[in-house]
Parts: sequence; structure tokens; C-alpha cells
Amino acid sequence: MTVIVVSACLAGVECRYDGQAFPVSLVIQMVKKGQAIPLCPEILGNLPVPRLSVEQCGSKIVSREGHDVTVNYVTGAKIALHIAKLVGCKKAILKSKSPTCGCGMIYDGTFSGKLIEGEGIFTKMLRQENIEVYTEDEIQEWGK
Ligand code: SF4
Repeated sequence: MTVIVVSACLAGVECRYDGQAFPVSLVIQMVKKGQAIPLCPEILGNLPVPRLSVEQCGSKIVSREGHDVTVNYVTGAKIALHIAKLVGCKKAILKSKSPTCGCGMIYDGTFSGKLIEGEGIFTKMLRQENIEVYTEDEIQEWGK
């Protein structure tokens, strides 16, 4: 069976920057059936909950206040990638718009709510390993 990696917040884990989860019932069902494992790269990067809201700004990850937390985000994404490869992951379902897990569109680095084309750093790493990445919106058809 192919193991699917999912963003932990989509599985109901309260690991987002604001201490909230973003539960998606289809993702939770997949985890309960043993088809998917939840990972949060930001927690693996030794970041707290709650934590500063950040956006990608060029090659850096920075907070609204200007703190550069790129090292934590890159480290966490690398650890999550290691785990994904270890379990033979070929497919991932990740939280849209996140600077780590985003897929297709991310915030533009101005903290104004504006989206631009781009990918989270974990998504980029997975795709470099030819692992397919989908957002929680794209999988809604899967359960029908
Ligand atoms: Fe969810 Fe990914 Fe952000 Fe963790 S890093 S809270 S899994 S979107």
C-alpha cells in the first residue's frame, strides 16, 4: 500500500501558527485507515505553537515583524522529507497557501493577503523527489 503524507493540520492536529487545526474529514479518514501519515514540517523544525505568522519573501521565510526564520523552516521540511521517503511516500495532500505546505499559490510576502503563484518549501522538496502533491481542495472529488 502506498503511504500518503498529509499536512498534520488537515488531520485535525492543532499545529498551525495560530494554534488551530484545519480538519478535513477525508484526510482524517485516510489517517484512521492507516493509508496516510500526518506530518507538520514546522513543528519538526522546532517551532512552537502558537508561533509567528510568516510568509515567503524571495528565498527567505520571514515574519511580519521581520524575523528571519528560514533555518527552522528549511530544517523542518528536510526532516519531513526524510520521513516521507522512509515510508515510501509517492503522494501527498498538503494545506494550501502555507509557506511550507502550499501548492500552486502562496502569499506574496507583503502580509497583505495577496496570493501569487508559488509553492511551499516542503512541497518543492517533495516534487523534486517526484512525489505528487495535492491540496485539500483538489482531493474533494476523491471521496465521491
Ligand atoms: Fe499545517 Fe503544514 Fe503549516 Fe504544519 S507546516 S501547520 S502541516 S500547513
